[in-house]
Amino acid sequence: MIKRCLLLALAGMMLFALARAEDMPSWEYPLEPEVLRDVEQYITLANRDHLLDSKYKPLDLVTVPVRRAQGTEKMQLRQAASDAVSAMFQAAEEAGYTLYLKSAYRAYSTQKFMYNSRLEKLGRDDGLVSYPGASDHQTGLGVDILNYAWTLKDGMNKQFAATAEAQWMEAHCQEFGFILRYMEDKEELTGIKFEPWHFRYVGKAAAAYIMENHLSLEEFTEEWQAYVAAYEAAGGDFARLLMERARVNDATVVNVSDDGEEELSIFY
Ligand SMILES: [Zn+2]
Repeated sequence: MIKRCLLLALAGMMLFALARAEDMPSWEYPLEPEVLRDVEQYITLANRDHLLDSKYKPLDLVTVPVRRAQGTEKMQLRQAASDAVSAMFQAAEEAGYTLYLKSAYRAYSTQKFMYNSRLEKLGRDDGLVSYPGASDHQTGLGVDILNYAWTLKDGMNKQFAATAEAQWMEAHCQEFGFILRYMEDKEELTGIKFEPWHFRYVGKAAAAYIMENHLSLEEFTEEWQAYVAAYEAAGGDFARLLMERARVNDATVVNVSDDGEEELSIFY
């Protein structure tokens, strides 16, 4: 009897959940909600208004196995970003370009030292070195990539954008999950000068959307957060939507029939 009651209660709860899911507005944003949920923290924003904790250090840092600029030590990135850099260097090579890694993960303490040194040298913040905690490099997802000629120079400036390598990277970075983080016409929004050498890993889906729509990470963040807020205001429940989708995905079996057509079977 108790068992029977439990079963009935369970069935009732499932029906309620299904009914609620159907009541929710449909998800119209061009990216899947899982991309925005961002379990892996690939779309995390780091800037002067969104400072990373001084103790924040990614857990999955690995040594990046690609060609480095002369005079640089071994560098680290988060695993996915490292794999993406390797793939991009390989594709560049096939297209006839040789890339050099100049900078990757940077600890908070390193960034603080760099910022203070530049401030001391110039007497002002010139917008080329990020404030400690505001650097993409601390996320373990940001990289600086140069061509050979520019590895020999003392510093970097926007003239690098005129090189074939910079143009190839800008055109292809999203195929590997990277975005051009500090665009020329977004200086006001990012607070950072145009950096044609700095790429930020966000994952392929987000990168394709951001680059196609020519957005800064700041604009993208504001846009998707506004969408989620509007979705919830219209009666949606973002957390519930993610749960429902996870449940459907877990119960989804794809059968490939003989003629190669996919049949989707969903079991609850
Ligand atoms: Zn950089």
